[in-house]
Amino acid sequence: MKIDVLTLFPEMFTGVFGSSILKKASEKEAVQYNVVNFRDYADNKHQTVDDYPYGGGAGMVLKPQPIFDAVEELTKNNHDVKPRVILLCPQGKVLTQKVSEELAKEKHLIFVCGHYEGYDERIREHVVTDEISIGDYVLTGGELGAMVVIDSVVRLLPGVLGNEDSPILDSFSSGLLEHPHYTRPAEFRGMNVPDVLISGNHKKIEEWREMQSLKRTYQRRPDLLEDYPLTERQKKWISEWEKEK
Ligand code: SAM
Repeated sequence: MKIDVLTLFPEMFTGVFGSSILKKASEKEAVQYNVVNFRDYADNKHQTVDDYPYGGGAGMVLKPQPIFDAVEELTKNNHDVKPRVILLCPQGKVLTQKVSEELAKEKHLIFVCGHYEGYDERIREHVVTDEISIGDYVLTGGELGAMVVIDSVVRLLPGVLGNEDSPILDSFSSGLLEHPHYTRPAEFRGMNVPDVLISGNHKKIEEWREMQSLKRTYQRRPDLLEDYPLTERQKKWISEWEKEK
């Protein structure tokens, strides 16, 4: 996958793309990052990328020209591949695991990180294919949002995580939150690991994990269960928990 990021603060990405799984993913050639300062595309003497809003009001607005030109340059050799051009924006579709899974199937993603009050609307209408928000709050710029989206997408690319870190069982991927984890020691300051996990009985362990995963979802995110296809035994567990209320 090719990932281009258009930003006014390219240095913000150095640590994130150069560390941990995102770094390994590029070393394994599962992904290729290209961070571009779109100020370099500004066609005016002072390389200005923003201007006052028509009609007045507070804040500055990003001009269309540098973003249009940068995206055109980055896509000029894309003959078969149509990139997704993603605008980070608090008004966009809220990021979910499903959105990340869908983006992970693409060959080329371009992220446009805004700053200031907003973007010239023509960028949204003519350049962008998707608008993504990372939550219902306002950040100062799109960079942190782009990093969040990129991290959640890249870890899903084939070969990026080892089998042991398989994303299939992660919270949300299965439709449920993940079950609790424990590691050594089995007893720590008088607190014990559940017996079943040290029983060696794999069938029982699987059942315990399934139940805990469902229970956690039931307690913390019951909204996720609205469309979840519950099995008969899962329905039974839930009716037991209902009685305990
Ligand atoms: N005036 C804009 C509004 O009310 O929709 C907010 C602009 S915000 C100060 C500046 C930039 O930060 C946005 O253009 C966007 O790129 C980014 N941003 C802010 N909140 C975000 C969020 N929740 N998700 C993704 N990007 C966000």
